[in-house]
Amino acid sequence: MSTDSPMDYDHAAYAKGKPILVRAHRVKKTYIRGAETTYALTGIDLEIFRGEYVCVMGPSGSGKSTFFNMIGGLDSPSEGRVFIDEVDMAQLNAHELAFLRCRKIGYIFQAYNLNTVMTALENVMLPMTFAGVHGDEARARGMALLARVGLADRWSHRPKQMSGGQQQRTAIARALANRPSLLLCDEPTANLDFASGGEVHRILRDLNRDEGVTIICATHDHKMLKVSNRLVEIENGRIGRIRLSQDITIHGGSLGSDDEGGDAHE
Ligand code: ADP
Ligand code: MG
Repeated sequence: MSTDSPMDYDHAAYAKGKPILVRAHRVKKTYIRGAETTYALTGIDLEIFRGEYVCVMGPSGSGKSTFFNMIGGLDSPSEGRVFIDEVDMAQLNAHELAFLRCRKIGYIFQAYNLNTVMTALENVMLPMTFAGVHGDEARARGMALLARVGLADRWSHRPKQMSGGQQQRTAIARALANRPSLLLCDEPTANLDFASGGEVHRILRDLNRDEGVTIICATHDHKMLKVSNRLVEIENGRIGRIRLSQDITIHGGSLGSDDEGGDAHE
């Protein structure tokens, strides 16, 4: 595994003219629990460009969720910096950070994380309430978002009355409530069957392709590579390597990188 130069492509050419949306600079995260110290991230340098679709893969425990927490402003690095739109997140006060998390970033988690006593529509409207969008406007926008993810007829259902796929699509609608420019998806299809996972893939692909939403998605799902621009592999808290998705071939579930002609890309 190339550790000195983890990029298997001409990064300067790829990056040319692309505005940077997220920049992680030497990000480290160490968890200390009593006598136990975990070096979850040991130095991550990464640029994500506006409009990109980036897959993040790595074994369980390699630091994917920790990295997402850092770039999503849900937790702060022990060392290093994260910039969103070239703004250093560490320089933001609590109010500014809350604004960023509410307006610029949408979060999608493996376990959906819906409010169980609220209906689908109420869940989708909740972030709008935080953003000061109320009443008819929030309701109309919420219904439009539910329609967008194919759930117009499920607006009054509570999470328990929906399938896993429907819950995750509700969570996507909620993540889009305040029109974020970045969607952070942490293993969004890990709990879903093939068909429901496919629907989630299509929704994310369309959001990226048609609306230019930047997507960073942790996944074990090789199908996701077909619609992404780059694959970032994380191992033991650091970046193993970064490849263009079009350069990747998939051999019966495992990844290759030879020159067989990127048939992984649509
Ligand atoms: P992944 O998402 O790739 O499965 P995580 O980012 O969840 O990996 O975890 C990376 C490492 O950090 C693991 O060893 C995990 O046990 C540890 N870890 C994650 N969160 C915490 C926490 N809040 N406190 C202590 N250790 C943690
Ligand atoms: Mg995780």
